[in-house]
Amino acid sequence: MDSVITRFPPSPTGYLHVGGARTALFNWLYARHTGGRFVLRFEDTDVERSTQQSVEAILDSMAWLGIDWDEGPYYQSERLPVYQEHLRQLLDTEQAYYCTCSPEDIEAMRQEAMARGGKPRYDGRCRERRRPASDDAVIRFKAPLAGTTVVDDKVKGPIAFQNNELDDFIICRSDGMPMYNLAVVVDDITMGINTIIRGDDHVNNTPKQILLYKALGSSLPVFAHVPMVLGSDRARLSKRHGAMSVTEYREMGYLPDAMLNYLVRLGWSHGDQEFFTRQDLIDKFSLENIGKSAGIFDPAKLLALNAEHVRATEARQLVTPLRPFLKTHDVAVDDDQRLREIVETLQSRSKTLVEMAAGALFYFQSPVVYEEKAAAKFLKTTALEPLRHLTARLSELPAFEDDQIEGAFVQTMEATGLKLGKIAQPVRVALSGKTVSPGIFEIIRVLGREETLKRMDQALAFMQNRQSAQE
Ligand code: GLU
Repeated sequence: MDSVITRFPPSPTGYLHVGGARTALFNWLYARHTGGRFVLRFEDTDVERSTQQSVEAILDSMAWLGIDWDEGPYYQSERLPVYQEHLRQLLDTEQAYYCTCSPEDIEAMRQEAMARGGKPRYDGRCRERRRPASDDAVIRFKAPLAGTTVVDDKVKGPIAFQNNELDDFIICRSDGMPMYNLAVVVDDITMGINTIIRGDDHVNNTPKQILLYKALGSSLPVFAHVPMVLGSDRARLSKRHGAMSVTEYREMGYLPDAMLNYLVRLGWSHGDQEFFTRQDLIDKFSLENIGKSAGIFDPAKLLALNAEHVRATEARQLVTPLRPFLKTHDVAVDDDQRLREIVETLQSRSKTLVEMAAGALFYFQSPVVYEEKAAAKFLKTTALEPLRHLTARLSELPAFEDDQIEGAFVQTMEATGLKLGKIAQPVRVALSGKTVSPGIFEIIRVLGREETLKRMDQALAFMQNRQSAQE
């Protein structure tokens, strides 16, 4: 086969939801894996429901996910002459015809067909009538009356459809707007698309599309219909199963690579591997390993996978994504190096960037705000002596590096006869205000000499006040 050309053709009638993002991802990965091309096209012929705002939301989500395209975005609304030309070809070759049956006529035909125990359908009344073009005429495709059309699906295997089950479907509305099946086929032909990966909700459209390819004298693309994503109750995915829009996950502090990893696993596998980097996915993605059963969307699994990606990502790469989350707390950090060090202390304990930003706040809160219970339990007068000792040792250190800091703790342990925990916990509260924080040596190193000593003095003063109040 020539080089692979895939496409993602969203209808811009809302945000990019997780199911759509998975479709985009599969097409993008397949193009990247094979060194092919990926085309983006907006199917915006439904003028009532399509909005510019949705176009922008979809572009924004794709940019965040890092799904880039080689061609487009094309807009169907700008391609009407191309559809007209192909409609003309079908009319001229008598593979399509104008139909002027009224909605009442159609309804009567459907009722009649059902009364006979058949499927509701158009009875082909205008087929041989040779109606001319007119304001109230639609264009119908002259579907074959016998035979079968086989969809040779890469995922599902061959699926046969009886042609007499497909009625003469409408390919152009009376206002001149092409219908989905016509527009999609004309686009896919003219854009050279040779691989179509999409949700299996489109399987029933595929025989109609195959007939159009044939009528237009074009070879067929590869079809791969991917089972839908379902909620944990196996119902079609909806809001009640969790956030559905890709941008909501960005706002909740998820990493795009974790999203990609999670989405791909909702329908594709590679042995029992669960964790994939972006490059891993590009290297390994194939149509052969698309699964036959529905993917079940599980927000808890996505969160756990996000935590793994937060841990595995290089700290410097989290610096820029973290900034907007810090900003919501009015914290702005210009120094990349410092922020990278802060990130390193929090990676193993943050499931999302929202958590990481919250966990980082104490670094910027000076003077420290003590959690009441933490201060009551640990900044007690009994901790005065060890903290004084440690403060003196820390202030003598030539450099604030982990082993030196640890050395200062060892000296204090030896001098006071206390175990590390007995000293570290009050120090943790003194420096962070909390009982849960990154490792104590790390905090001291990242805060640096001046800030650490300032915070130790603040805590000593707090404890002294407490002592005087008790006396
Ligand atoms: N615009 C269609 C949709 O969003 C695309 C269908 C297709 O992939 O052919 O479902």
